[in-house]
Amino acid sequence: MPVVSLAKIAASPALAAGDFTVRVPCIYGKRLVSSRVSFGHSRRRSSVSQRVRSELQSPRVLGSVTDLSLDNSVENGHHLPKGDSWAVHKFGGTCVGNSERIKDVAGVVINDESSRKLVVVSAMAKVTDMMYDLIHRAQSRDDSYLSALDAVLEKHRATALELLDGDELASFSARLHNDINNLKAMLRAIYIAGHATESFSDFVVGHGELWSAQMLAAVVRKSGLDCTWMDARDVLVVVPTSSNQVDPDFAESEKRLEKWFSLNSSSKVIIATGFIASTPQNIPTTLKRDGSDFSAAIMGALFRSHQLTIWTDVDGVYSADPRKVSDAVILKSLSYQEAWEMSYFGANVLHPRTIIPVMKYDIPIVIRNIFNLSAPGTMICRQIEDEGGYKLDAPVKGFATIDNLALVNVEGTGMAGVPGTASAIFSAVKEVGANVIMISQASSEHSVCFAVPEKEVKAVSEALNSRFRQALAGGRLSQIEIIPNCSILAAVGQKMASTPGVSATFFNALAKANINIRAIAQGCSEFNITVVVKREDCIRALRAVHSRFYLSRTTLAMGIIGPGLIGGTLLDQIRDQAAVLKEEFKIDLRVIGITGSSKMLLSESGIDLSRWRELMKEEGESANIEKFTQYVKGNHFIPNSVMVDCTAEAGIASCYYDWLLRGIHVVTPNKKANSGPLDQYLKIRDLQRKSYTHYFYEATVGAGLPIISTLRGLLETGDKILRIEGIFSGTLSYLFNNFVGTRSFSDVVAEAKQAGFTEPDPRDDLSGTDVARKVTILARESGLKLDLDSLPVQSLVPKPLQACASAEEFMQKLPQFDEELSKQRQEAEAAGEVLRYVGVVDAVAKKGTVELKRYKKDHPFAQLSGADNIIAFTTKRYKEQPLIVRGPGAGAQVTAGGIFSDILRLAFYLGAPS
Ligand code: ADP
Ligand code: ASP
Ligand code: MG
Repeated sequence: MPVVSLAKIAASPALAAGDFTVRVPCIYGKRLVSSRVSFGHSRRRSSVSQRVRSELQSPRVLGSVTDLSLDNSVENGHHLPKGDSWAVHKFGGTCVGNSERIKDVAGVVINDESSRKLVVVSAMAKVTDMMYDLIHRAQSRDDSYLSALDAVLEKHRATALELLDGDELASFSARLHNDINNLKAMLRAIYIAGHATESFSDFVVGHGELWSAQMLAAVVRKSGLDCTWMDARDVLVVVPTSSNQVDPDFAESEKRLEKWFSLNSSSKVIIATGFIASTPQNIPTTLKRDGSDFSAAIMGALFRSHQLTIWTDVDGVYSADPRKVSDAVILKSLSYQEAWEMSYFGANVLHPRTIIPVMKYDIPIVIRNIFNLSAPGTMICRQIEDEGGYKLDAPVKGFATIDNLALVNVEGTGMAGVPGTASAIFSAVKEVGANVIMISQASSEHSVCFAVPEKEVKAVSEALNSRFRQALAGGRLSQIEIIPNCSILAAVGQKMASTPGVSATFFNALAKANINIRAIAQGCSEFNITVVVKREDCIRALRAVHSRFYLSRTTLAMGIIGPGLIGGTLLDQIRDQAAVLKEEFKIDLRVIGITGSSKMLLSESGIDLSRWRELMKEEGESANIEKFTQYVKGNHFIPNSVMVDCTAEAGIASCYYDWLLRGIHVVTPNKKANSGPLDQYLKIRDLQRKSYTHYFYEATVGAGLPIISTLRGLLETGDKILRIEGIFSGTLSYLFNNFVGTRSFSDVVAEAKQAGFTEPDPRDDLSGTDVARKVTILARESGLKLDLDSLPVQSLVPKPLQACASAEEFMQKLPQFDEELSKQRQEAEAAGEVLRYVGVVDAVAKKGTVELKRYKKDHPFAQLSGADNIIAFTTKRYKEQPLIVRGPGAGAQVTAGGIFSDILRLAFYLGAPS
């Protein structure tokens, strides 16, 4: 077999056509030896192009390992001392991202006081991606692989220059240049073939680890410590499986480790490459993406180390991905199972296969932050040790998500009770090599539903359709449905099993965030509840459940419509109270949009409420209610959205149904929806009752006074409403409280108008329509199906003045009609009574009225002063003495206060602690 330099392969077709072996220099300790990488097989003959392709199938590292005899004899006396004296550390790519970080890592290694240390290291950050990219370019026959390879060389050359000098620098540089030359030749071969096999790719991509390990070892040696680097391909033997995974061969690896140790090291610090390994046939392979954690776990098991420390760029395992949930908390400890479930379901802080090897020997794993050595990290071990620490008892420890999935639903009545259906489904899936991430089958056996990565779903669908062609044609299966764009959300916790109600809370939080669940699975271990949701809902769902279990903040995305007197006052009230709500009540109100009739202001992170008026002027864009709605709802990061309608517009009220349907909560003082057309009102209420979307409108009656809530409280606790009677208009209350015989009615109206107690046109108050709307709202709330139009309303606007063109004209002519009211007042007075303008809901006769009535002077309505409202509820329980609510029922401050308290009620309904 000829032995050549790899750089020549591509250049020499004759050589490419034959079998050859390449000598690759390897450094073991300080010794430079050579490994042989063998390509191809000598027996078969075939055409040149076929040969290039087939030879790319299997580069084999014969290397030093196969140069060793694999018996157990110890050749130079270094016997491997396994056990507690060993500490295993693993440093992720970000930990060795540049020369400064590599120095920090060396510092951690040097300072560890364990008597023996094995350090597993990843490639420098991004290098593995760069290596995969090289292959991608080369096999796409894109020449730029050469410049990309130069960038790889340059990155390592520059780092080495910053870290090393003298012999160390020279030998590393020699190795680096040699590797790069070989890679160049290999990539050239890939370029010619237009194809790279898995083993060829694995050989190429593993170089990042070879370089980082050698550099780190050299830096540790600089401190005077005896330190050897280990090419893990000489030790770790793994068996490829069908599912793009590898299984460690522990027995073989153990043998090779003994051998490696006997030949190489008496040193107590070993820096080993993560990620890479060999097959039993000595073909270089990898443990697949992010596999260095797995390498470290296997090493921990091989050495029986007392601990495995995984160093990364976060303080430990968080209760949820910290990039998605800003108030995720660090978990002090996790059981092996919990850690496994978290990592399997997407917490990429730990590779899912890290657990099994160390669990076997009870080796604890500690996840720590290289950038924050003071943080203790997360301990993963057999038992949950209750250190009195917080959250140790939490039934749910953490949440994780997996994106880019599709659901496959195989459905049909012919599946029930037919053995082998599931097996047939999954063997068809297996044939296309798809990875099933979760399965859910209803106990009726009517359907089997499972999730696969989106990129595999097409093949799965084709395989199933072909496998079940007959069953589909015969109607035994009704359909094979594919639901794309899904994500998995999983809750993980060992104590879920013994804590009832966990799933109820979990699902409740999702329902409150208006998230639709497509499929559910709970393993019988009960360490995990998994749901499938739409991809666009995933982060909202994650945040909703996380905040429910961790009692972190309930965050509301708010859109405020109508920043006039009431809306503006509300915004100011929110501004003044926001900090207290956040700190003390854990409610985070974020106004992400404000819209008037002409301009709107939007801000994803929340509008600065100390400047909203200026911002509205300076940065406001043209108002568009549909765009506004989409913006408030389209915010995927805040689980709950609410529209606060502070207008009196029927047009805005007509949007409520659509908003509620889209899962947007509605809070409003606008009376138009609840007193508008009955069918529309009933439709809204019906929708609201069926969904978890809330609609609050306390401020529609009596501003901030608790009227609707009182009425609801009575009804919900089983009381029966007989009659609701009240003075519902602050203006009319003022007018009659002051119409005591000293001035004419028109004078009192003029005075009220002057003081700003009336609408600009007082006819809007005197007509009684506003009171009629409130009566309609209360009647409907009490269960009566009343319409505004059918309500008899006694208007105080004299008929001839209804047509006046202006308020001024009306005010001018009003004194002409004083006499009638004067007369009525005198008659009442003579009878010891007063006049009051009231609304009545007669629940017994099922009708409502708005009229001017007389009350005895000792009646509560007669004692009113100022512009107060008063409402009397006569019920089965409050029959002799009605339940009375009295107080200021108009004005911007109290109305805004009423809206504000509805917003907070919404937050409590959504899970804020009360
Ligand atoms: P390394 O290169 O060190 O192996 P990884 O990027 O593989 O680092 O893993 C660490 C990252 O995992 C963190 O930066 C964090 O963003 C992410 N991550 C996702 N879920 C979690 C979680 N539940 N807890 C901690 N980190 C998480
Ligand atoms: N460097 C490899 C990767 O990026 C392995 C690892 O870092 O865990 O996939
Ligand atoms: Mg990782």
